[in-house]
Amino acid sequence: MIVTFYSTQDFEKDFIAAANNNKHEIYFIKRRLDKDTVQLALGSDAVALFTIDDSSAEVIEKLHSLGIKYITLRSAGFDHVDLKKAKELNIKVANVPEYSPNAIAEHTIALILGLNRKLILADKQVHRHNFKINNLIGFDLNKKTVGIIGTGKIGSVTAKILHGFGCNILAYDIQIKDFLKKDYNVEYVNLNDLCKRSDIIILHCSLNENTRYLINEKNISIMKKGVMLINTARGAVINTRDVIDGLKSEKIGSLGIDVYEQEKGLFYDDHSSSPLGDEMLTQLLKLENVIITGHQAFLTNEAIEAIENTTIHNLDCWEKGQILNNELV
Ligand code: NAD
Repeated sequence: MIVTFYSTQDFEKDFIAAANNNKHEIYFIKRRLDKDTVQLALGSDAVALFTIDDSSAEVIEKLHSLGIKYITLRSAGFDHVDLKKAKELNIKVANVPEYSPNAIAEHTIALILGLNRKLILADKQVHRHNFKINNLIGFDLNKKTVGIIGTGKIGSVTAKILHGFGCNILAYDIQIKDFLKKDYNVEYVNLNDLCKRSDIIILHCSLNENTRYLINEKNISIMKKGVMLINTARGAVINTRDVIDGLKSEKIGSLGIDVYEQEKGLFYDDHSSSPLGDEMLTQLLKLENVIITGHQAFLTNEAIEAIENTTIHNLDCWEKGQILNNELV
């Protein structure tokens, strides 16, 4: 197959080449897919997309008019793809349903520990030869109550790790996993209870019409004062404006995010020589009790290898007319 990879990052190329093993004719495009770059896929059978690519109905229609028959996603999440339009146009779409839930869960724990033990601030002070520790007090994770919203593949691993820390784990999900209750004493509660009782709240749910702005002014108001909020799921599961207000009023004690609701067009590019032009992110970056990483929770060797292997596997199966279990449409 001839395949155009959009939003190709330099770090991916070797992994893709190794997985492909010269089977498919691959074209790497650094730019993200949008209505201006869609034309670059002309002549391809398939496109391989990342989370920042524009896969709206308008762009999918253009892909269809260029003769694209397959869209393979280099991600687990598919909230950015208009699956209805793809189905209508008979374009097959598949994702990478699981690559390494550990990678994202471990990054989540890194954010918790980084915020709690004030690692960024401590490191900055030590670099200035200031070894005073008065402002670096954290808390034991042991016996703290952590609320996990979304106990899917990633949330389950986070629950397992936090159980190891001795945390009491609350969970909210529309699907209950009995093994989490049995193995890690996870207590499923409703969203209100989770918000009221948790010292740390972690977002691990998928983004859909029911979870958009799941964390908002209303449920922030019932959270414990000083709660730590962590989001490694999708930016829009929290209302960033309301969270900034929560930080200002000190209701939210600290925030760790790997995803941001306006990350498209910002993340994965170097903007260091131009103004950021994003008022909410600028406000967040000024706060010492906030850690932001640029959608890198998945970024481990194991995860990247698995992503590219599944991506090539998807293309292999389509080429051979085989059925894929992970086909979304
Ligand atoms: P998953 O599908 O295994 O789990 C998602 C969970 O969300 C499911 O248990 C589902 O029941 C739950 N959920 C769905 N709607 C809900 C609702 N209305 N209320 C409560 N729970 C609801 O997905 P996963 O692989 O564990 O991924 C979890 C999240 O992490 C997704 O948002 C995904 O996009 C994101 N993710 C982020 C990165 C990163 O690098 N930051 C990488 C991979 C995945």
